[in-house]
Amino acid sequence: MPKPGELEMVAPKRQKPPLHWSDLTVDERKEKVVELGLPAFRADQISRQFFGRLSNDPQSWTDIPAELRPAVQAQLFPELLTSVKALDCDGGTTVKQVWKLFDGAMVESVLMRYTDRVTMCISSQAGCGMNCPFCATGQNGLTRNLSTAEIVEQILVGARALANDEIAGGVGRVNNIVFMGMGEPMANYKNVIAAIRRFTDDAPAGIGLSARGITLSTVGLVPRIYDLAKEGIPVTLAVSLHCPDDELRDTLVPINNRFKINEVLDACWNYADVTGRRVSIEYALIKDINDQAWRAELLGKLLQGNLVHVNLIPLNPTPGSIWTASRPEDERAFLRILHEHGVAATVRDTRGREIDGACGQLAASV
Ligand code: SAH
Repeated sequence: MPKPGELEMVAPKRQKPPLHWSDLTVDERKEKVVELGLPAFRADQISRQFFGRLSNDPQSWTDIPAELRPAVQAQLFPELLTSVKALDCDGGTTVKQVWKLFDGAMVESVLMRYTDRVTMCISSQAGCGMNCPFCATGQNGLTRNLSTAEIVEQILVGARALANDEIAGGVGRVNNIVFMGMGEPMANYKNVIAAIRRFTDDAPAGIGLSARGITLSTVGLVPRIYDLAKEGIPVTLAVSLHCPDDELRDTLVPINNRFKINEVLDACWNYADVTGRRVSIEYALIKDINDQAWRAELLGKLLQGNLVHVNLIPLNPTPGSIWTASRPEDERAFLRILHEHGVAATVRDTRGREIDGACGQLAASV
């Protein structure tokens, strides 16, 4: 018989990430500061510092009594992301970060600066359970969901670096956020929605970004797409279709065995109806697998007449995979056929390839 306590040593209880200010709603923040012995109005001042001024150094928050700052820092602002590796390319305008979380789990985020905007690509889970065979993240399965604050912090790190002139191109701000890093955001729905609220809530409650600048990319968890339509936050919905016929999609995006293409698209059109937002269809072009002209025709027919835009993504080959990107002429033909069906479509640029920061390459190899 094991002695008391011994079993816990063998199977340690899974710990939750430390609680952080970004996990809390406005009301919960007030409760927390009161617990710490501060009047409720201090919550607003703290949020002004943290979300409004993008300061993450409680010691410098002169509106908080000096003797309470250490407790505020220790209990409400634990360090969530430890940088393991930062890689850059494109003259420092593309920066990939590999982060270690409190329990050793790894995630990645990428900042991409264009002439007129900054887009950040963030992770919603450590690993991913969706098992798409062409995606690097899927190969090692799901480690765990990220907490709301672990998601939010990826953006705040970038926002601070931009505000402090640490990114090539001068002082700037984050304009767009895409949930296209590691993980399936719809499988971590609650925390992802809470994170989106921190992004879109006006300062001091959040960082005051337009919902239009946020893209949530999903394999197509149908019930969650209907839920998202009801949230009242009109983010851009992107669906990783990758294929217009169920037979092949069952293999390329295995969740298709649960939710078929017609169900996924019905959910998309409902989303477009409710929010007025154009839905993005993601389609990674894989040579001789899903890039045939007949599939372009079929996709064109499925999508035509709807509020939709197709993003064709040249496949980024992952290590060990036999698949590769389509021939340029096949890519061009695919695009042309979609246009002939009156479907808006473009080929996505693939920034960050050299640093394994492009779509589907995010796999913490450290
Ligand atoms: N789980 C979500 C979001 C993360 S992936 C989703 O699947 O949508 C973001 C996008 O990159 C998805 O469209 C995904 O299918 C695509 N992707 C994954 N691996 C890729 C690869 N090797 N080449 C090109 N795109 C890839």
